[in-house]
Amino acid sequence: MSHRLMLQSGMISQTASGIYCWLPLSVRVIDKITRIICEEQDKIGANRVFFTTIQPAELWMESGRYDDYGKEMLRIVDRKDNNFLYSPTNEEQATDVFRRYVKGYKGLPVILYQIHWKFRDEIRPRFGVMRGREFLMKDGYSFASSFEEAEEIYRRIFKSYIAIFRRIGLTPIPVQADSGAIGGNMSHEFHVLAETGESTLYYDKKLLTASDEELMTTFAVSDEKYDPKVTPIPESELQVSKGIEVGHIFYFGKKYSEPMNAFVLDKDGNKLYPEMGSYGIGVSRLVAAIIEASHDDRGIIWPEPVAPFDVTILNLHTKNAECCAAADKIYEAISARKEVLYDDRDLSIGEKMADADLIGIPWQIIIGQKNLANGIIEIKKRATGEITKMSLEAIIERFSK
Ligand code: ATP
Ligand code: MG
Repeated sequence: MSHRLMLQSGMISQTASGIYCWLPLSVRVIDKITRIICEEQDKIGANRVFFTTIQPAELWMESGRYDDYGKEMLRIVDRKDNNFLYSPTNEEQATDVFRRYVKGYKGLPVILYQIHWKFRDEIRPRFGVMRGREFLMKDGYSFASSFEEAEEIYRRIFKSYIAIFRRIGLTPIPVQADSGAIGGNMSHEFHVLAETGESTLYYDKKLLTASDEELMTTFAVSDEKYDPKVTPIPESELQVSKGIEVGHIFYFGKKYSEPMNAFVLDKDGNKLYPEMGSYGIGVSRLVAAIIEASHDDRGIIWPEPVAPFDVTILNLHTKNAECCAAADKIYEAISARKEVLYDDRDLSIGEKMADADLIGIPWQIIIGQKNLANGIIEIKKRATGEITKMSLEAIIERFSK
């Protein structure tokens, strides 16, 4: 569903299987999501960087993943016959940056993150950008001096992720991706509920109202891990729904720091290999997931925080001087405060209204000849279809706040 809506509304253009151009409307959505992620990550002390998309094979040989990663890795040879690859994820590179720049234990802990393109040669790219081959990911990496510090960072990131998804307008379901034994590999996936989701979630109803702290321990698993014999949820509380995985966080200790010889000296001059974690959000997948979670039969219904524009002005009669003057006046008055898409295309009323519903901008200001002659302009709330009639002045006032 989201794929069809994204194509119809001109958000993306397919270039090859699983590879898409992102067009003006969708880039604005990505920018909004990016802003929210950065604000929430900065709050918890994470630092934004850009790693590289093209990486030398040697880096991945150090961790042993160059051979293990298999066919999902796109391998590249340069003119001097050096082996490179297009990054599917960046644990190795983050570890490399760490070992070059962090020299002493006082430099710990460190959290680095980026929002950058990845390439995975998925066997079955599908549902458009939901499972693409080239996709945009927020990926973060943490380095801590002890397990306790790593666990504390993991909790901070967990809460930050919940805050990010909520600010976007979604209800995140955190799912234990591993048994989570202390000292073992903590891992959570974050899912968004959607009928078209690829995974089936089994979770305790109280998740939907739990506090951040409770969320971490409230029971939820996805398909493969579900075993009715060990599920600690009373049948009356068990909820089963389809979900889309939009984020994934891991703690994995010294898995990369040891083999890559990334260490700092502790206060006694001994080698200290940092305890690491990595934290992903599928930014481009999120765009599709938001649409899956929020649309109707006429099109997309953007949650306000990530809408490509706040409001669209529909001038229904572009050959009528009064309508044009009113539309221009509103546009000029409100565009300093609101992001406005001004539809002055010379199309039929039906086409313009259908496009506005399809594109899904939260508010429509509809200027028609007959209403305007009576001093009326309509505003329509996309989510409910509710229409309010107002004067031009009242509309300017309403959208100038
Ligand atoms: P999946 O099980 O969906 O393949 P993954 O376990 O391979 O996901 P991670 O390596 O944890 O995913 O990547 C972090 C996030 O990046 C995922 O939670 C998902 O939202 C997103 N992601 C992963 N693969 C793709 C893809 N092919 N297209 C779009 N987004 C993706
Ligand atoms: Mg995968």
